Amino acid sequence: MQKLIELKPEESILVSSQLESFLKPDYVYLPFSENQTLLASKNEEIKIGDEVASGVLSPISGVLKGLKKMNSLSSNAYYLEIANDFEERSRNTIGLRKEIDKDGVLRVLSLENKKNLVLNAIDDEMYVSTENFYLFFCYDVFLELLDELQKMFSLDLIYVCVRASSSENVSKLMSDLGMYPNIVLKIVPDLYLLGKESFLMDYLDLKREDSLVVSASHFYDIYNYLKRGRTKTNQFITISGDAVKNPMVVQVKVGSLLLDVVSELIELKEAEVKYFANGLMSGEEIFLDHFVVTNELKSLLIMRKREEKKEDKCIRCGLCSDICPVHLNPLLFKNSKYREKMKQQCIKCGLCTYICPVYINFNSYMKGDFNE
Ligand code: SF4
Ligand code: SF4
Repeated sequence: MQKLIELKPEESILVSSQLESFLKPDYVYLPFSENQTLLASKNEEIKIGDEVASGVLSPISGVLKGLKKMNSLSSNAYYLEIANDFEERSRNTIGLRKEIDKDGVLRVLSLENKKNLVLNAIDDEMYVSTENFYLFFCYDVFLELLDELQKMFSLDLIYVCVRASSSENVSKLMSDLGMYPNIVLKIVPDLYLLGKESFLMDYLDLKREDSLVVSASHFYDIYNYLKRGRTKTNQFITISGDAVKNPMVVQVKVGSLLLDVVSELIELKEAEVKYFANGLMSGEEIFLDHFVVTNELKSLLIMRKREEKKEDKCIRCGLCSDICPVHLNPLLFKNSKYREKMKQQCIKCGLCTYICPVYINFNSYMKGDFNE
């Protein structure tokens, strides 16, 4: 197995185990593309679960106001704007389902011919605790659903993977898993990339053809679909970083504006900050204006603005290619042919930039944005 490293954050930032909420936004914004069909008209009343465009379900009840240009991790284009009436009127009146049906499971989980299912509650990024919180807050319903899936598909084993540092989940699981003989707790070391499916499979010594890995956040979607008969209307995100006084995990209504969430809940230590979506290593810098919370967003890190470390000349130490977990040579990013080829293979882990002693930023190399 590839040698993995432990990331050393400059300071330890503990996310409080108290869950905060932002569930009553004035508006939500849902991505809409040209090839989707609009299924509701302007000023039409919408209920929770209504399909407002093909494949787009509303997480709130209210009125469809029209289209607006917005940004998110998935699309910088037009979004359907729905004004909240705060009445929580729902299309779907089905309560919690006692039983799940096999066809329904197979629509969302490829468990046919699998021997093992892995629930992955590992957060790779520093200061982020989102996957860990999905497991923490949905603990009982997740274990019940895993148990049902084990019986329905006669799975050999179900692994629940948590970081050694996730002490609350570790102690709960250690005391409860005796009741579930086919569910096994795997406590994994705090090494970067173990949260990624292929690295986790190698670590557990599982074969890809036998096993299916599902993140805790995705399992929450699956739980909603199988047990509540609807797509999720809210999601968890970690808001943290060295510029935040009160780092937390927030339960947010899908489609909320990230700026509204931050303004309402977060106290900053200083005014000059930078925002990063989905981590410092594999995430990206974002700007909060018109930024929408979509499914892909797992965390927002708010970091002090530091003096940019100036890139120096490469000293040919070889650390960047030594550390690359998929055996690429990041130095060859400058070659456009190599860059095009690598785009498919690079997992955007950020390790090459992290390790470089002269602060060469391979993210800009990847975009072809560098000085010759
Ligand atoms: S970002 Fe890409 S090139 Fe750099 S270490 Fe990770 S996989 Fe390798
Ligand atoms: S880690 Fe930095 S200095 Fe070392 S070879 Fe790679 S680019 Fe050059």
